[in-house]
Amino acid sequence: MEEWQQGEVIENIKWTSNLASLKIKADIMPHQAGQFTKIGLKVNDNLITRAYSYASAPDEKLLEIIYINIPTGTLSPKLHQLKKGDKIQIMKQATGYFTMEEVPDGKNLWMVATGTALGVFLALLKTDLPWQRFKKIVLVHGVRHSDELIYQDLIQELNKTYPNQLSYIRTVTRDKVADCFNYRIPIGIESRDFQSYANIEINEDSQFMLCGNPQMIKDTSVTLNSFGLKRNRRAKPGNITVERYWL
Ligand code: NAP
Repeated sequence: MEEWQQGEVIENIKWTSNLASLKIKADIMPHQAGQFTKIGLKVNDNLITRAYSYASAPDEKLLEIIYINIPTGTLSPKLHQLKKGDKIQIMKQATGYFTMEEVPDGKNLWMVATGTALGVFLALLKTDLPWQRFKKIVLVHGVRHSDELIYQDLIQELNKTYPNQLSYIRTVTRDKVADCFNYRIPIGIESRDFQSYANIEINEDSQFMLCGNPQMIKDTSVTLNSFGLKRNRRAKPGNITVERYWL
């Protein structure tokens, strides 16, 4: 049974007109980086809830999620109106298996996100484990528009902390932007542009974590299959670990 906890909104950061991050103060149970929660708000006496991955690391004081406001939606327009001090409901216990524990060993770790799914990788990258376990980490973020390339300060900080270990690849599909690729993620892998940029090959030493648009996960998996990589399952370890919370 889901147990709920009251949380307090500390900040509602508006990155664009519809893309935002919510910082929340709440007393929840310990959790692992890569897990998700549910946020709930009362709408006409019903508790409306949606799942969101934590973008905050487990040891951070404030919990943080990234969301898109869909003006015709039920919950997100209400989230968008929240201000400092407002109350929300949040699951006491986070859940999910998109954690480092589930990813087999390898040399290189590719973290591939579209849109708001960047958050789950930020949570992981703010912990030590990925950096200790992998020689090189490639963070790939695909967005529609350049103003959705959020958390640039944090990513720059990670780059400074791990100068030879991190490659950050941005691909923007609906604007032409300097220093970014301009096509969907599978094309960057098929063309080997991403591998050239990160200066690594994709082979059995590569581990991939995919999160975001379900069609991106499907298409990228097919592309990775052509490189000989298979889905990672508990019963049969492989090289492609996927997060399927966005259904
Ligand atoms: P999104 O629609 O998944 O787009 C993010 C990136 O994923 C885009 O670069 C998109 O490329 C790419 N993508 C889509 N399908 C792909 C595939 N099969 N393989 C590889 N890459 C693929 O995510 P989002 O913009 O974060 O939006 C998420 C949800 O919020 C959507 O339901 C959307 O309608 C809604 N929404 C978005 C906005 C916004 O401003 N982004 C505003 C309001 C509501 P393409 O550009 O080529 O599709």
